[in-house]
Amino acid sequence: MSDNPSIISLHGLSKHFGPVRAVDEVSFDVEKGEFFALLGPSGCGKTTLWRLLGGFESPTKGEIYIDGQEMSVVPPYERPTNMVFQNYAIFPHLNVRGNIAFGMRKAKLPKAELNARIDEALEMIKLTGYGDRRSDQLSGGQRQRVALARALIKRPKVLLLDEPLGALDKKLREQMQLELRALQRSVGITFVFVTHDQEEALTMSDRIAVMSQGKVLQIDTPENLYEAPNNREVAGFIGTMNFFAGTIKEARGDLLSVDAGPLGIVSARAKGDGFAPGVPVVVAIRPEKLRLQDAAPGENVSAVQGRINNSAYLGDRSHFYVELPGAERPVAVASQNYEAGTGHRMELEKSVWLTWSLEAIVLLPLD
Ligand code: ATP
Repeated sequence: MSDNPSIISLHGLSKHFGPVRAVDEVSFDVEKGEFFALLGPSGCGKTTLWRLLGGFESPTKGEIYIDGQEMSVVPPYERPTNMVFQNYAIFPHLNVRGNIAFGMRKAKLPKAELNARIDEALEMIKLTGYGDRRSDQLSGGQRQRVALARALIKRPKVLLLDEPLGALDKKLREQMQLELRALQRSVGITFVFVTHDQEEALTMSDRIAVMSQGKVLQIDTPENLYEAPNNREVAGFIGTMNFFAGTIKEARGDLLSVDAGPLGIVSARAKGDGFAPGVPVVVAIRPEKLRLQDAAPGENVSAVQGRINNSAYLGDRSHFYVELPGAERPVAVASQNYEAGTGHRMELEKSVWLTWSLEAIVLLPLD
């Protein structure tokens, strides 16, 4: 983490519903101005954690500090937070200006100042000139932007968003992801964003907390989560990963030689401690870090021979599944179709070679 001060600080935070530990001993900080995502499968506890931040649940144990203040006795409307929900619920009987002004109803601002704030908010969400439109005259993306403006006009220190793009179709969703990120950068407000969509979290976030069964498994930048996951669950949840059971054979400094079963003896770099000879590990490799070729590679190239079992042509890239002798399941390989026609080149049953570089191999502890 950088030297930026924390805006949110969680200390041993837990929320139990009877026997269910929806949030289980969670401690971390969110920096001022960060775009921070809570990511995990359904039921992992991300919405409960988010509701705890907003004050809609009280913790079973632990503390939440926001902007230096402990929040246990602070009700939602007095917190320096504001919320944006999945079903963005803008009011059909109010026009765009009325909807945005609704966010300020408690502030009792003089009319001129309120109008100036609404104009500023309209500009922020690129809807200047749309103030008099009714909500049924807006597209889904525009409605979502109005909901954002209504939350931002109060200038909260933290904006809490629960799958705010969930109701939008894929194209619009992708466009809104970029817009939301640009908006967050320009206003500089800390965003805490709940999503189960890993691509969405990777696209927008400065850092992501990956959750499972109430616990935070890893908090990291998108790149580190993808390239250097610290356990098998994170590696499998973010993107696609091929896994092999392995055993460390030899260690020379941080360079390891690992028996990776169907992949053969592979070289890998140790990241962290505990990778001594004899230790069982999980050997992991991403599909796009494997290359397919027809001919046997030269010496000193990490390679294994297999047979194409299945393939899918996806336009920009193709996915291949390659059977290796002794492997439980086919290995996934993804290749970019740089040249026209390349995606169709590999027929089923064809014998191929897989090659990879030293950096492609990720070693994970056994669960
Ligand atoms: P989703 O993506 O499906 O919304 P989530 O990761 O946000 O899932 P939560 O809604 O936080 O998960 O739920 C975490 C766990 O807590 C689940 O097992 C859920 O059934 C349970 N839970 C949540 N709210 C309550 C409640 N009010 N009473 C009892 N159990 C609850």
